[in-house]
Amino acid sequence: MASFLPLLPQHLAEQVSAGLRQREQGYRGRFAPSPTGAMHCGNLRTALLGWLEARLQGGAWLLRIDDLDTPRNRPGASEAIQADLLWLGLAWDGSVLWQSERRGIYGSVLSGLRRQGWLYGCRCSRRMLADISAPHGLGGVYPGSCRELALGWGMEQGRCPSWRLRLPAGALCWQERYGPPGELDGPQAVGDVVLRRADGFLAYHLATAVDELVLGISDVLRGSDLWGATAAQVAVMARLGASPPRYGHLPLWRDGQGQRLSKREGSEGLAGLRAQGLDAPAVVGLLAASAGLVPQGARLSAAELLQELTPSCLDACLRAFSDGAASGAKT
Ligand code: GLU
Repeated sequence: MASFLPLLPQHLAEQVSAGLRQREQGYRGRFAPSPTGAMHCGNLRTALLGWLEARLQGGAWLLRIDDLDTPRNRPGASEAIQADLLWLGLAWDGSVLWQSERRGIYGSVLSGLRRQGWLYGCRCSRRMLADISAPHGLGGVYPGSCRELALGWGMEQGRCPSWRLRLPAGALCWQERYGPPGELDGPQAVGDVVLRRADGFLAYHLATAVDELVLGISDVLRGSDLWGATAAQVAVMARLGASPPRYGHLPLWRDGQGQRLSKREGSEGLAGLRAQGLDAPAVVGLLAASAGLVPQGARLSAAELLQELTPSCLDACLRAFSDGAASGAKT
């Protein structure tokens, strides 16, 4: 459990240890939107379900804003996210956590991994990587081309490499609540993970893996579009000597044409629903009904919905909701 200790500065090793102890003590969930636009119904439903579960478990529900990828951030989006959550009655615990304010922690972990020889510099251009993802390429899995590159490469060329985590042979596994146990082969299906991009940006996988540990997150509830990303995050946690939290990947909200919604494309959020005259109880009812928690057309506040549920009833509903979406996808 404590194999990260020699790798990290003492203060950070202590933070990771404290996080891991905290997660043993009870439920700690988090909602972690990127401030790339207004939240759509899928984001809002994930937030509602996470909040309900944390409250039913008597645990904590944290709000973390994943704002490291600054060019993608939209002005005002993080304020709008907080206002939308509060309008729905979904208050988070403690202060908002900003990944941009936690760069020091991620940077220290990156240095620790580098010192231990787990990282290597990669000089592959966007073009080379695009070829890997091309239809006849390697299916997007990085083949480790730069694994043997001399360590001083970046310095000699006057260029910064990106830094990749070397994945050992074998499967990356995690506990998946609404489906078969998560498992992906590291080198074959995931490929060495970029933890710092050549332009200096710290990668989402690094920040997220570190945060789940340091913040003592016991349960991650998020959209099923992030199922594959889990393996990369589990790989980082494994190198830090820690086991991952439990994951629940929830079905995505699809529009009338079966397309998933996107924040960046401005899929309808609360503003659109309000413009149609829906108030908070109507929106909570709509979101809850879409996951099978209440009948269609129900109107109730988040606090009232909480009163109607028990932990086992929510769990059963979410299983049925996920199974239904999975069998719907097959037909
Ligand atoms: N911030 C990312 C997103 O909004 C990831 C969220 C997560 O890991 O839950 O898609």
